[in-house]
Amino acid sequence: MKDWIATDLDSTLFARAWHADNAIAATWSPEEDGTRSPSSWMKADTHRLLSALGSAFAVVPVTARDVDSFGRVDVPGVHLQGPAVVANGAIILGWDGLPDHAWEEHMTAQLAPWESRLNDFYTWLSGKSDGLARPRLIPGPCGLPAYLVAKAAAGWWRTPEARALLAEMDWLGCRVEVLGLELQVLPPGVGKRDATLEVQRRWFGGQPPLLCLGDMPLDLEFMRLGGLLATPAGSTLDLTWPV
Ligand SMILES: [Mg+2]
Repeated sequence: MKDWIATDLDSTLFARAWHADNAIAATWSPEEDGTRSPSSWMKADTHRLLSALGSAFAVVPVTARDVDSFGRVDVPGVHLQGPAVVANGAIILGWDGLPDHAWEEHMTAQLAPWESRLNDFYTWLSGKSDGLARPRLIPGPCGLPAYLVAKAAAGWWRTPEARALLAEMDWLGCRVEVLGLELQVLPPGVGKRDATLEVQRRWFGGQPPLLCLGDMPLDLEFMRLGGLLATPAGSTLDLTWPV
């Protein structure tokens, strides 16, 4: 059994803004002519480190990306296709890169009661935010929504107007988190930690990851499963640490 590493993807391993001459393309957008073009980049140093780690350890992505956008991740020389925690833990992909059926059953039962409520949140937020927030339901298992995300302009979610809006709604026990430009509304049971624990139990004999990487305070919930925690210099998580 391999030792393993668990890592968030966006703004931890790669980002749109990290384009540089020696950067490595990490995610791709399909073009109309059937080719693809890079949409975000990994720093060359990170790529050297990750390639070396990936030859010794399993590297398990732990991401909010849904299955489609996770499918656009392709880093040369690094196996990231599975096992993987995607859609904030609503879906787990096995070694074959396909959704794990046992977890699918578990999460379908968990999410079915939330389908109409998430749709209500979506409709309410679309109407109330006057176009300033753009809500979207992230697909989870068996056609059910996994969670709601709503993007807004930089800083908007911290304005008194947005705070008042969020306080107006009864979120019925969902976790409501602002992560940079994004609001995330996660029904109970959806989260990176539980799904990472399931990966640990199923494929790594209960052994925790040697190292966990993430860039947001919310990532700490799964990062703390690991023996070592790491974050990119200058990340949101780094900036929350005491000087
Ligand atoms: Mg991230």
